[in-house]
Amino acid sequence: MKTCSRCILPETFPGIRFDAEGICSHCRKEESSLSARPSRQAEYRDRLDGLIAATRGQAPSYDVIMAYSGGKDSSYTLKLLKERYDLRILAFTFDNHFVSPISVENIKAVVDALGIDHITVRPPWPLVRSLFSLTAKEDIFPLPTLLRASSICTACIGMVKSLALKFALEMSIPLVAFGWSPGQAPIQSAIMKTNPTMTRQNQKALRSALPPELSAAMQPYFIPESHYVSCADRFPQNIHPLAFFDYDEEHIKSELQTLGWKLPSDTDTNSTNCLLNAFANDCHLRRHRFHPYVWEIANMVRQGVMTRAEGMEKIYAPQDDRMVSHARQKLGL
Ligand SMILES: [Zn+2]
Repeated sequence: MKTCSRCILPETFPGIRFDAEGICSHCRKEESSLSARPSRQAEYRDRLDGLIAATRGQAPSYDVIMAYSGGKDSSYTLKLLKERYDLRILAFTFDNHFVSPISVENIKAVVDALGIDHITVRPPWPLVRSLFSLTAKEDIFPLPTLLRASSICTACIGMVKSLALKFALEMSIPLVAFGWSPGQAPIQSAIMKTNPTMTRQNQKALRSALPPELSAAMQPYFIPESHYVSCADRFPQNIHPLAFFDYDEEHIKSELQTLGWKLPSDTDTNSTNCLLNAFANDCHLRRHRFHPYVWEIANMVRQGVMTRAEGMEKIYAPQDDRMVSHARQKLGL
């Protein structure tokens, strides 16, 4: 398969074009913003310093709630927020019933080493199985979403984001942190105030993608309508600091080892916590003929935080079929 000679996007990626040098239209479009990246990163680090100086210690309980999967990126973000900013942090894990056992141990090790409170939400298996079985079989989300992640991942992350925001509103927590990699979410959204109007739209989009009975069963995970009025003055800021701090996978892994974090051996090349991911990728690849992580990894190759060879390995190396069949069998598909 033909891939861009600069990033790693394939010819099967919707809407892509290649020029005479074999460089893709996305690489060409990004050229000017990439050259401005170092100064934008410095600007965002200053903005976060200012935001934290204005919010730290003001809320009744916690300064920030962190969506914490136990993977390397969210573990490293947690370390950064604690060690650089000394925030009062509540780490929140969404247990989707596919958390790697090594990741479970990593979560405990990291929150203990950093001295952070931690909560887990584990929805009942029948509900989780319905959601993942549906998204394994169908693309219930619009195409722009599916260019960036599989249907299964999008459903799972949608629940994580919704719950993190709900807890922030209910506990008056001013910041919600995510460990998105520099390729996963753009720097422009790395510090962003949430608001009732935008949130209501996002929630409506997520809910309307679901069949009515599943949407009703998932009611406890969504923002109640009354919150848009009663919490209107305390919608939090979303932050994802890895978009504007130095990002190097090997450095991140070695820093995390000092906290007792270990690299899982039971996950695929694009996850360090989830045993569903290989299956989610496989479903997406069969339907769309491009890898659901290729957008993220191509961004990181373009930004120079990963070499092209490393990116090719992550996306195009053969995967272990046992990981795919493990999840398929567990879901009964
Ligand atoms: Zn490219």
